[in-house]
Amino acid sequence: MSETGYLNVAEIFGENVFNDSVMQARLPKKVYKKLKEVINEGKELDLETADVVAHEMKEWAIEKGATHYTHWFQPLTGVTAEKHDSFITAPMENGKVLMSFSGKELIKGEPDASSFPSGGLRATFEARGYTAWDCTSPAFVRQDAAGATLCIPTAFCSYTGEALDQKTPLLRSMEAINEQALRLLRLFGNTTSKRVTPSVGPEQEYFIVDREKYLQRKDLIFTGRTLFGAMPPKGQEMEDHYFGAIRERIASFMKDVNEELWKLGVTAKTQHNEVAPAQHELAPIYAEANIAVDHNQLVMETLKKVAGRHGLQCLLHEKPFAGVNGSGKHNNWSITTDDGINLLDPGKTPHENVQFLLVLTCILKAVDRHADLLREAAADVGNDHRLGANEAPPAIISIYLGEQLQDVLSQLISTGSATHSISGQKLETGVKTLPDFMKDATDRNRTSPFAFTGNKFEFRMVGSQDSIAQPNVVLNTIVAEAFSEACEVLEKAENFDNAVHDLIKEYATEHQRIVFNGNGYSDEWVAEAEKRGLPNIRSMVDAIPALNTEKAVALFEKFKVFTKAELDSRVEIEYETYAKEINIEARAMIDIAGKQIIPAVIKYTTVLADSISSVKGACAAADVSTQTEILTEVSGLLAEAKKALSELEKITEQGAAMSEGREQAVFYRDDVKTAMDALRAPVDQLEMLVDKSMWPMPSYGDLIFEV
Ligand code: ADP
Ligand code: MG
Repeated sequence: MSETGYLNVAEIFGENVFNDSVMQARLPKKVYKKLKEVINEGKELDLETADVVAHEMKEWAIEKGATHYTHWFQPLTGVTAEKHDSFITAPMENGKVLMSFSGKELIKGEPDASSFPSGGLRATFEARGYTAWDCTSPAFVRQDAAGATLCIPTAFCSYTGEALDQKTPLLRSMEAINEQALRLLRLFGNTTSKRVTPSVGPEQEYFIVDREKYLQRKDLIFTGRTLFGAMPPKGQEMEDHYFGAIRERIASFMKDVNEELWKLGVTAKTQHNEVAPAQHELAPIYAEANIAVDHNQLVMETLKKVAGRHGLQCLLHEKPFAGVNGSGKHNNWSITTDDGINLLDPGKTPHENVQFLLVLTCILKAVDRHADLLREAAADVGNDHRLGANEAPPAIISIYLGEQLQDVLSQLISTGSATHSISGQKLETGVKTLPDFMKDATDRNRTSPFAFTGNKFEFRMVGSQDSIAQPNVVLNTIVAEAFSEACEVLEKAENFDNAVHDLIKEYATEHQRIVFNGNGYSDEWVAEAEKRGLPNIRSMVDAIPALNTEKAVALFEKFKVFTKAELDSRVEIEYETYAKEINIEARAMIDIAGKQIIPAVIKYTTVLADSISSVKGACAAADVSTQTEILTEVSGLLAEAKKALSELEKITEQGAAMSEGREQAVFYRDDVKTAMDALRAPVDQLEMLVDKSMWPMPSYGDLIFEV
């Protein structure tokens, strides 16, 4: 805060980050130069340099109040992990301690990692896992109730070097696309660009509810979503929440979130209310892919932490409330050179921009060929409630190009050359005092899972609580493959111009089936996509096998992103995760129904029966037919719920006894989930009948309308 009480954003931005300007100011010139070479050119870091960097990093962190440091990493649990060590050394003779941090400690950590998922990559007797500093993502100091901690972004690998995390393959995929994109650029005569990096801007959706009410819902506590709950009388049908004025309490929460994020160097930029009541969105300015992935984790952590301080709870689950819009994450992706060229920028006249057209058609080819992998990258347990349902992109991957690019492509396919581009038209507002706008030549389509939006692609399938690492690993690698194949043809071509032209036409023609500009939510599209032979993968369990098909193994091994063993281990982990999460949901339902709901309903029926008999007792002729009717209905539903509960208990036990793997996951999806639905149905009906004061938990209405 400044003296006047206003927040000086420029002053606080990045104040807790060991960023380039801090390094430049604090490190000896030679050390700074060496470190920059490591960061920018991927050179090896020597221990001597690391020692100096570690020392300065520690001094800087201590000035910020840090007492501990942690290697901050992203195992395959979906969240970040950390193990804190303090800077203190063994007491000296005078009983005092020193604060120290060596280069060795900076570069490498060794958490006792036997409990992180490894999918068989690491036997428990050899449970060592290593964390290695990713110097391309800056260290930062996090301040919270635990004091201040120096966080060092790291990769996490097994003793034999296999990736056990999200970051390692991401960095490898960035290397792959860098190499292939540079190769392509050189063919077009670019001799100046030194590095190509994917840029990513993830738009994060989330729900905010009151924390007191949240704590009364065991389902939210254990699973992040409501397992029971009747629809409120008012839903989102009025669309009055979308972009509506932000309420005071939420605004104050958002202000604190922004402040925290800015201090951490996260460029929180846009915030607004979303479609559903109590739903909001936060978008940062895009950054290099690995930094964007780290920052998105920080955004999710910060949303949760700050909400708690405001007596609120942030729900990151993809579908916290059945029947109400769910949350996703739009992964905006483009490829940019170090000297500022965006390979996805079509320019004003895309038909003349041959390099752009080749890049574009390479992406069509990549997405068409590996649609199954992209779909898999967006699969998580919560997202199964969204993909293919009404509000989210369908489970079918297709690309939206917009009118202008579609037209260029159609010209190419039909005549072999494109001669003109449709340009943006004037949008006349009809009001003299308002300026007339130029309409974008590329329109928006909100129903496409993969949409071209001006100079980037927006992958809209990603789940709100999922890491964005895997979607970007897949995007980077499949596009690297398409670039590499194009280069192979073009490098051998006698006439480059003709060869490029032919290649663009070939790709556009062969892969036009992946382009769809219509309404992705319609039933006609599902039928049409089937005719085109596009995969429609409806659940996570069905998406998982895409990860280690022969096609996937060949792709990832060629570009050194994953080995077959790493892919196999990920498949195993995903099946396990699926079964485990549904198992927790089923057990939470059993607990809530058995200990809270059924007893409450019994109490209500007793009250109802007592009131009937007391009315009857007072006047034998009184008409109690309505009360009796309600009692009969409630008792019927109660019996149904009780039966469904026993069935769910039985089925869940059966599932838990199975050995881990695909078969178990399929059982959880088909049998356990069906039994869960069968229990939920009568309970939700009961909620509408039982006296609200006796219902053991806040309703949907209480949760989403009273924040
Ligand atoms: P929308 O209308 O979809 O909300 P915005 O322009 O607000 O689009 O951008 C959404 C996200 O896309 C932001 O995080 C933004 O930083 C990011 N973004 C913008 N341009 C690019 C780009 N060239 N590459 C990657 N991400 C980008
Ligand atoms: Mg968007």
